[in-house]
Amino acid sequence: MIANTYPALMPCYNRLNVAFERGEGVYLYDGDGKAYLDFAGGIAVASLGHCHPHLVDVLKKQVETLWHTSNMYRIPAQEKLAERLVDASFADSVFFTNSGVEAIECALKLARKAQSSTGHPERYRVITYHNAFHGRSLATISATGREKLTKGFGPLVEGFDQVDFLDIEATRAAITSETAAIMVEPVQGEGGILTATPEQLQELRALADEHDLLLVFDEIQCGMGRSGKLFAFEWAGIEPDIVASAKGIGSGFPLGACLAKGSVAQHLTAGSHGTTYGGNPLAMAVGNGVMDIMLEDDFLPTVAENANYLRKQLNVLMQKYPETIVDVRGLGMMLGVEFSCEFRPVLEGLLADGFLCAQAGTNVMRLLPPLIITKTDIDKAISFIENAVAKLGNKS
Ligand SMILES: *Cc1c(COP(=O)(O)O)cnc(C)c1O
Repeated sequence: MIANTYPALMPCYNRLNVAFERGEGVYLYDGDGKAYLDFAGGIAVASLGHCHPHLVDVLKKQVETLWHTSNMYRIPAQEKLAERLVDASFADSVFFTNSGVEAIECALKLARKAQSSTGHPERYRVITYHNAFHGRSLATISATGREKLTKGFGPLVEGFDQVDFLDIEATRAAITSETAAIMVEPVQGEGGILTATPEQLQELRALADEHDLLLVFDEIQCGMGRSGKLFAFEWAGIEPDIVASAKGIGSGFPLGACLAKGSVAQHLTAGSHGTTYGGNPLAMAVGNGVMDIMLEDDFLPTVAENANYLRKQLNVLMQKYPETIVDVRGLGMMLGVEFSCEFRPVLEGLLADGFLCAQAGTNVMRLLPPLIITKTDIDKAISFIENAVAKLGNKS
């Protein structure tokens, strides 16, 4: 199933040997017209599914009107989307990017700048967590410290201290007079779908307050409705200082955002940071289109309800096949199903059957479906998964 030998492309992906021609809702279609139920969602990107009619509509209109100006000028749709994000969240101010990693870069630069501008230039270090994923830039691979991401790319960017995921005592012990911020994914995605408890996030908030540190959440994967709230940290009833968002915020159009409290954001003064494409009219048309739908009264409650249903059905499968499925975990529509065997062959079998999912680590199935899935879609997904599990044998 591996097709990574196309020499005109750099060989950095282990691609599955399938190509899709068309997408509609929760389905992708290959060149033969074969349908695939998409519970990978382009890795948590297709929040409103594929080719959502409203997004197609707003993007088409924008394509025919204006593509790009520059951040040299006002961009009204940028002001509008920022205001909507501010109104719906902890933040007072937003910086738009083209990707997740750029949103994290902005968050890291902002944390250092805010400390430096308030009389603490010595505070530049950021505490991060083992098995984290924050992107592929030099700074963000350095932030994770993971050999898999960093090997051969040194010297790394200095200033990151990793401790075990949400180990509060280890976090406390890692704080020095040079620490600027704590950065964490409220739900680790690539790391295997590990979810912070509300108490852990509350403890991090208290720890950050106690030491005048900035609390930064990477919500690139778990945010924008995926948890059943706009941002996953909201379940903990606390507010961070900075949040990085991307993926679902554009539902397939390249878009990211760094959101921050005004007291922090004010230090990113004119000329200190910027981007050519970030927040351009095309991206803003789609971003506003996504918000049109996510801000509807029943959108997030429906996501939460369907996510509960999906999880319940996965738990039923785990009870039925305890030797194959050893854990079901996650938050909202960001779920991990841990297998007792290597997951890649199962994923390839499911692909052949017409079901798409992602993977984390060697043995975790990662489900990141469009947030618009219905109970009918969930029942279909469960039957694909049950088929695959049954083929592995060991029904109890
Ligand atoms: C995907 C992801 C990133 C990187 O986003 P890109 O758009 O690929 O740069 C960073 N952090 C988390 C948690 C992610 O899931």
